[in-house]
Amino acid sequence: MAASQNPSSFPNKTPADPALFDLLVLGSGIAGLAAAQLAKDNGKSVLVIDKGRRLGGRVSTRRQDGFIFNHGAQFVTAKGTEFASLLAKAKAAGNIKDWQISDDKIVQIGTPSMRDLPQFMATGLMIRQQTEITKIAHHGGHIGFFDKDDLVATGRQAIITAPAAQTGKLLADIYPELAATAGPVSYDPCWTIMLGLEDDHGLGTAPLRDEAAGIALAVPEMTRSKQQSGAVAPALTIQATGAWSQQHLQDDSQMVIEILCQIWQNLTGKPLNNISTTTAHRWLYAKVTTAAPSDAPRLSNDGKLAIAGDWLSGPRVEQAFDSGQQAYRHLK
Ligand SMILES: Cc1cc2nc3c(=O)[nH]c(=O)nc-3n(C[C@H](O)[C@H](O)[C@H](O)COP(=O)(O)OP(=O)(O)OC[C@H]3O[C@@H](n4cnc5c(N)ncnc54)[C@H](O)[C@@H]3O)c2cc1C
Repeated sequence: MAASQNPSSFPNKTPADPALFDLLVLGSGIAGLAAAQLAKDNGKSVLVIDKGRRLGGRVSTRRQDGFIFNHGAQFVTAKGTEFASLLAKAKAAGNIKDWQISDDKIVQIGTPSMRDLPQFMATGLMIRQQTEITKIAHHGGHIGFFDKDDLVATGRQAIITAPAAQTGKLLADIYPELAATAGPVSYDPCWTIMLGLEDDHGLGTAPLRDEAAGIALAVPEMTRSKQQSGAVAPALTIQATGAWSQQHLQDDSQMVIEILCQIWQNLTGKPLNNISTTTAHRWLYAKVTTAAPSDAPRLSNDGKLAIAGDWLSGPRVEQAFDSGQQAYRHLK
């Protein structure tokens, strides 16, 4: 992977006769980028297509009113050698650093933002964002990806990395055996609130976790800075637990902000009277709670399409990465 190259964007206008790629990948999250990069390393022509504005999927960073919030995955860990090797390369390129999350645990975080990890993984790939695929069908002996208007691109083979429910819907007609793999999968939701602060007033950089109180993780964003503290606008991102988020799923976002701020103040004893901006995001499919059965099919009967995503093995970024690489290996 050449760290100096940037991902190239694919023109959003569909040509009259869309190009044929060796591999189409739906999703520029970790699973899709892992699959696409491995295919590219093996000399395949690859196009990645995603409906979001930015790549990374749930490894996501939001910039608002001068503040930076990492409101998806907060950190990564590597148990296997392949993901560890990727993290080592990202670290050498300055996109990942160690973070002491507790007295006895060191994890890795993207720096200066979590999205720097998927951005690094996207090096040299051809990626088309802001294109929602609404239909997948056979087209001239290949796999065609369609948006609401037209055919977007064709591939000799394809990998689908959308969350389980969307994958099930997209593949129901063309590959019902793969759509069925998505059936038993479930996720926890996650309410995430983002607070831009006027000053850091002793906020520090230590994270807070208190499952019983409903806080999965609260992180002062200055933690990720490559510079000295004070160089980054002080901000706090608070993520509720799955149970708390489920219980408050239909609550109004303003109410969620108020309650989570109150919980954080009660736990830390620090007043949050310096807030200048607030936002809330409700992730409906945050963390996998029931993964697909390990013996359920991952590859279509004709060998042309494979599925990937954290929901095929577990709730962490590394599992999404592994599933993407496995999907490409299934196709070969
Ligand atoms: C709040 C939160 C906190 C988390 N914390 C951690 C953590 O600390 N550590 C950790 O390891 N993991 C964490 N996770 C889990 C981790 O983020 C995921 O496991 C991982 O990012 C999933 O990657 P993926 O590629 O499988 O899916 P995604 O990231 O969901 O990627 C799927 C992509 O498909 C695109 N897509 C879907 N449908 C279509 C369509 N029809 N057309 C085009 N594009 C489409 C989406 O836009 C998306 O970009 C967290 C997740 C959340 C939400």
